[in-house]
Amino acid sequence: MRWLTFDLDGTLADWPFRRLLRPHMEALLAEPTIRQALRAEYLRRLAQGDPTKVYDWGDIHRAVREQLGLPPVFPNIAQVLAEAELEPGVLYPDVPASLAAFRRQGYQIAVATNGLAKYQQVLIDRLNIAYDRLLAPDISQALKPDPAFWRPLFGGPVEQIVHVGDLLSQDIWGANAAGLRAVWIWRTMPQDWRETPVLERTRRPDLSKVITARLQGELEEHGRVGSAHPPTPPRPDHIVADLEELQAVLSSTSEGPATPSLP
Ligand SMILES: [Mg+2]
Repeated sequence: MRWLTFDLDGTLADWPFRRLLRPHMEALLAEPTIRQALRAEYLRRLAQGDPTKVYDWGDIHRAVREQLGLPPVFPNIAQVLAEAELEPGVLYPDVPASLAAFRRQGYQIAVATNGLAKYQQVLIDRLNIAYDRLLAPDISQALKPDPAFWRPLFGGPVEQIVHVGDLLSQDIWGANAAGLRAVWIWRTMPQDWRETPVLERTRRPDLSKVITARLQGELEEHGRVGSAHPPTPPRPDHIVADLEELQAVLSSTSEGPATPSLP
């Protein structure tokens, strides 16, 4: 089987979970004590490394509420998700037709998110994303960039896995570590990069500077997820601005690496 695995937030959709929670969280996040306690609790879980706890926002809220002795101020996440209405445009406009085209070409599609399935599943369904498998920390018992994140796909025959994602520190490092083809989707790609032909972008002399700067920004924002990442900087095999460019990449480069196998 040939798999295309796609990160969700920033890759297929414009952060649906964060968007839905934001109106319920704005007033709370304006309180420095609460904001700092949430950040500290997230970083504590990140350092502990239990893949099912790091992004369990409901449980993070519970913990912070107990620490600070707050009344039940946090939103009921299950209820917010159940009542979710997502504006058109939350799913990036290139996604439906591109996923359909990939399936016609014989690819199996997996949504591969570091968000927990217990939160993301309902949103993926609500966004009408057509997929064959969901990979998430509460399914894989691992977080990207740990190669074990992709382990559930290896229950069957695997010819090729191409992973597509927006975060160098999670998606590209993870794909590198797992021996997958790594496609970095850079949806805010500057114009001069867009003008560089897709297959020539990884040869640009300024790429390493871009990667160093973005990696630094990601690690400051999200922290370092897991200790398992390659000693070298993230190395995308291809860089695309959207999924239409990914179609061009896949059809122009039919060669793939040897059958992947997890370390
Ligand atoms: Mg992402």
